[in-house]
Amino acid sequence: MSGSILGDLPVLPLAESFALTAAYKTDSSPNKVNLGQGVYRDKWCQPWVLPSVRAAEELLHKERVNHEYLAIQGDESFNQKARELLFDSRISQQKNIRTVQTIAGTGANYLAASFCARHIRPKKVFISNPTWDNHYEIWKTAGPEITQQLYPYYNSNERCLDFGGMVKELEKGEENDVVVLHPCAHNPTGHDPTRDQWKSIAEVIARRRLFVVFDSAYQGFASGDPDADAWAIRHFYSIFFSDVSVSQKPLPAGMIVCQSFSKNFGLYGERIGALHLVSPPSVSTQGAFTHLTQLARAQISCPSLFGARIVNTILSDNSLRQTWEQDVKTMALRIRDVRSALRSELERIETKGDWSHIERQIGMFSYTGLSRQQVEMLKNQYHIYMLGNGRMSMSGLNEENVAYVAQAIKDVVEC
Ligand code: PMP
Repeated sequence: MSGSILGDLPVLPLAESFALTAAYKTDSSPNKVNLGQGVYRDKWCQPWVLPSVRAAEELLHKERVNHEYLAIQGDESFNQKARELLFDSRISQQKNIRTVQTIAGTGANYLAASFCARHIRPKKVFISNPTWDNHYEIWKTAGPEITQQLYPYYNSNERCLDFGGMVKELEKGEENDVVVLHPCAHNPTGHDPTRDQWKSIAEVIARRRLFVVFDSAYQGFASGDPDADAWAIRHFYSIFFSDVSVSQKPLPAGMIVCQSFSKNFGLYGERIGALHLVSPPSVSTQGAFTHLTQLARAQISCPSLFGARIVNTILSDNSLRQTWEQDVKTMALRIRDVRSALRSELERIETKGDWSHIERQIGMFSYTGLSRQQVEMLKNQYHIYMLGNGRMSMSGLNEENVAYVAQAIKDVVEC
């Protein structure tokens, strides 16, 4: 006993991806490769400010903007643009979607979890296994009384989505239980349901009357086409929450979509995101929205300006928007290219095993299938850093280091 409760608290490890980045920074090897952090890097493995973002920054600089507080729900013009990007311009006008600006995707997830804990009161929250680690932390913190039920997501033998396992688990849900879904570029596996599989997932969710939380962190990043990457969300909206769906019974209890601009606008440190609350048709969002903003007041008070201004400037201007659409394609294509370069190199040097999954997966990451021990060897012997579950952030690769990384993988796989 230390005499103060503070002294009695045990030391916790740093979150893995942050610990890896810190270790990478202090590594003095000239060969070091950072495949740990989920951030985009250009072909020189350097941070990339999107040309559309640079242009918006310059416009804002000339405008000599002020720095007043925003409203609790954020900047209305940004909220409208964020909604249009996610839902398309027609759906985004509907009265049953209400938006709050958030502290990036993390803040949106936290606000969603606390809103659900307080007002939806699920017994369980269904979270994919595996998932972005912070989902577990966020739900543990915001809803400690809610049981986290992990649904199978990945079939490690076949290296594909475990669709059967996922649906079977969701069938155990009860009314108002929450299900957290990744609409595209699933983190960490890089495997998404097909459109037909989404339709079946939607059917189970409606039948069990679950409450849906979509976590959209990679729109545009997965395929290079922001509309294609929003397909699952728009599908859920149109079958459950549009006027047409009034006749459909049963319906899910409601839906929240968490939207991050960290990856698709490269605005990581600016912490810009949004939460969209969607109610079933003919159910008013008015009261629910005031409860949401009450929580936002306690958690954020008023959100940050700069990122909202950048995103709003880009999405309000046709020419900047086109530049941004090109920017997301540039990122998605580079990632596709390094996927194929790594796979080709592994095959060229005849590395034991099948490496085709590297190209089948999409988005920022590859779930390589390397074991914890192999990942440890890559770090200790080759200065190559990636998550212990074998998740590799693809944009840390380039023409210069891909052969080195492939050879190191061959060495640890075959030793
Ligand atoms: N959800 C998922 C699935 C993610 O991968 C991330 C980023 N790693 C986030 C949310 C949150 O991102 P941010 O808070 O930086 O917007």
